[in-house]
Amino acid sequence: MIFSEIIVVGREILQGRVLDTNSNWLAVQLRNLGIRVRRIFVVDDVKEEIEDVVMNVISRRPNLAIFTGGLGPTFDDITVSSIASALKLELVEDPLALKYIREMCEMRNLPLSNERRKMALIPRGAFALKNGIGMAPGVYIKYNDIHFFLLPGVPAEMKDIFENEVRKRLEVLEGREYYKEIYIEIQGIPESDLAPVIKKYKDRFEPIYIKSHPKGHESGLSRIILHLSVFTDKKSDLDLLENVKVELMNELKLKAKRIELVDSLK
Ligand code: ATP
Ligand code: MG
Repeated sequence: MIFSEIIVVGREILQGRVLDTNSNWLAVQLRNLGIRVRRIFVVDDVKEEIEDVVMNVISRRPNLAIFTGGLGPTFDDITVSSIASALKLELVEDPLALKYIREMCEMRNLPLSNERRKMALIPRGAFALKNGIGMAPGVYIKYNDIHFFLLPGVPAEMKDIFENEVRKRLEVLEGREYYKEIYIEIQGIPESDLAPVIKKYKDRFEPIYIKSHPKGHESGLSRIILHLSVFTDKKSDLDLLENVKVELMNELKLKAKRIELVDSLK
């Protein structure tokens, strides 16, 4: 198993100005890579708060910690320096980070100002991750067997670095599991009548997780989406999920007005 924590840095999220979509996007990517997300935090752009969360992360020893936000050139962008301070790592100007920043400046016809140069300061021993869209490089730190990835807050930049720099580093990690999910839409069976059926399947097929999501009523009929999923290190559990789907649908077909496979919770 691989466990990950996601830490979102940004006062704008705590104060409700910006909706945190980054952690959700990261959670989907990690899940599809067979990596379990154990916690998602949001923390203020305050040095002590970030240090505190870093110490907490370290004490739980996840395999992975992905930070997003606060990598830019402004006064409140203190994620890198705060994490370096918590890990007691010195900040040094990194030649690769500086190269990326210089290339971006040339591409955009901008001077290499002190503010831009500041973004080349990363902890000693860390590795700069190329940002194909913006100025601030991401940062990769391996510390006490924990892989730390520091990504920008701007969603397009975060995604770019994840896709081009982070994903390949996660794909080679040992211990990733298989993940598969199926959605079934059911009309005409109230949730309380569905509950005992779900429980029966849950008990019989232990690794399969089944959750019902009530979606209200349409033309007087209840609409429910069942979510079947499995997170497992056994490939055969993927076939088990298929079998459970077939058996469950056959049983519910007799009671439902309509039942069909759908591709999401919508
Ligand atoms: P920049 O270089 O632009 O300063 P940054 O890495 O410092 O990037 P932030 O300053 O934390 O990122 O955020 C920049 C903008 O990105 C925010 O104003 C917000 O619009 C968006 N953003 C930040 N965090 C998130 C998030 N968790 N979910 C969605 N959008 C976010
Ligand atoms: Mg910023």
